[in-house]
Amino acid sequence: MDLKLTNTLTRKKETFEPIHKGKVGVYSCGPTVYLTQHIGNFRSFIFADILRRVLEFNGYEVKQVMNITDVGHLVSEADVGEDKMIIAMRREGKSVWEIAAFYTVQFLKDMDRLNIKRPHVVPKATEHIDEMIEVVKTLEEKGYTYKTSDGIYFDTSKLESYGELSGQKLEDKEAGARVEVSPEKRNPSDFALWKFSPKEQKREMEWDSPWGAGFPGWHIECSAMSEKYLDSPFDIHTGGVDHIPVHHENEIAQTKGARGHQLANWWLHGEFLLVDGGKMSKSLGNFYSIDDLIEKDFDPIAFRYLVLGAHYHTQLNFTWKALEAAQHALNKLDDAVREWDEPSEPDQDALDRFLDKINDDLNMPGALAELWKVVNDEEMDSGMKAATLLKFDQVLGFRLDDYIAKPLKVPQEVQKLLKDRQEARKQKNWERSDQLRDQIAQKGFIVEDTPEGQHLREKRS
Ligand code: AMP
Ligand code: ZN
Repeated sequence: MDLKLTNTLTRKKETFEPIHKGKVGVYSCGPTVYLTQHIGNFRSFIFADILRRVLEFNGYEVKQVMNITDVGHLVSEADVGEDKMIIAMRREGKSVWEIAAFYTVQFLKDMDRLNIKRPHVVPKATEHIDEMIEVVKTLEEKGYTYKTSDGIYFDTSKLESYGELSGQKLEDKEAGARVEVSPEKRNPSDFALWKFSPKEQKREMEWDSPWGAGFPGWHIECSAMSEKYLDSPFDIHTGGVDHIPVHHENEIAQTKGARGHQLANWWLHGEFLLVDGGKMSKSLGNFYSIDDLIEKDFDPIAFRYLVLGAHYHTQLNFTWKALEAAQHALNKLDDAVREWDEPSEPDQDALDRFLDKINDDLNMPGALAELWKVVNDEEMDSGMKAATLLKFDQVLGFRLDDYIAKPLKVPQEVQKLLKDRQEARKQKNWERSDQLRDQIAQKGFIVEDTPEGQHLREKRS
């Protein structure tokens, strides 16, 4: 069955064809590791994970690469301002290397908690400086670059097709440019390939280059690392929609300039996660991490469930209420499958319908609806339901194999605490009720109050 995907480059939903039969190379823009990744970032990484799982479900052998941006970048997109990694260094009193290492570990831990499959290669920018310098040298030889007092820049007016991804003409970009523009740039959309270290100062992160000590520009790592680990061009490039007009446009420009061809045949972009209808920011206090969800007793997989409830082309508004509803749905699912028999044979019709949905441009809300149809099917026996859902879960990633046919075992002591808590609530002794909830949590269980009474589940993380 055909897999249809919407390619940002052509703006069309088309049947996916890989370069090599049966194999797919995917490059996903990864995290910048000077801060904790927020739940918005993780919406993008869940989207990339779903794409990979759908490709695998279709029988493709996938090689996924995700970069770790551990080189500091500048605060502004216009290649001016302070280095974000250095700001973090000052904030945390650590070296830039320590900061990058700390947030990389945290990122990978959160990926595991969300059951996002580890990409096959997770290259660090700082370990690929030579490869980046080589691409910049080639661009220089081919006449795409110029030098200013602070770096080597890409001259976007030299590339006819510049702007093809966002559909923006160079003139539009100039007219609409609101970002601070370095006066030495020839065109507002020109961007730094290599930045010089300040003259009188040694940066904590700097490297020698044919142009003197300095550090790479924001976009060059993705052109250099993708061609090292994948084909050039490769099959699919992913990222959030914010990357379309600048980062990805510039990645394309670098590779087209240096190699004379497209970076990737397919470009897929995930829409944004909003929080309470707006952008997430530290100053608004709505910048949530996976730890914040766990602290409020949510299972990270409930966030995964919430994300799959919206198509990747549509914005998703995060609220705690919406997460509660997702957690509730997940609890219902877990409780149902625990009571089932061991998996037997999957139902072929249900599998076909599921494939229909996921192959229609990753229609995950449709796939979730298929899951509930199976759960609520009164004709199907539970062994068949179990086998069918295990198949679905190869794509959904809800870790259902930990639940199917595994009734919840509640230790005697926890049963006693639950009973005491029920009694305390009857007497409206909320303080005692909360104390008992904490004691139950210490034993590895989470108790929630629902209209049907206390609901117990095992803590997953
Ligand atoms: P960054 O660490 O800023 O490079 O972001 C990592 C990934 O998260 C990129 O693919 C971004 O496009 C994506 N991203 C950033 N903010 C959001 C958001 N609010 N919703 C969805 N994706 C986002
Ligand atoms: Zn990138």
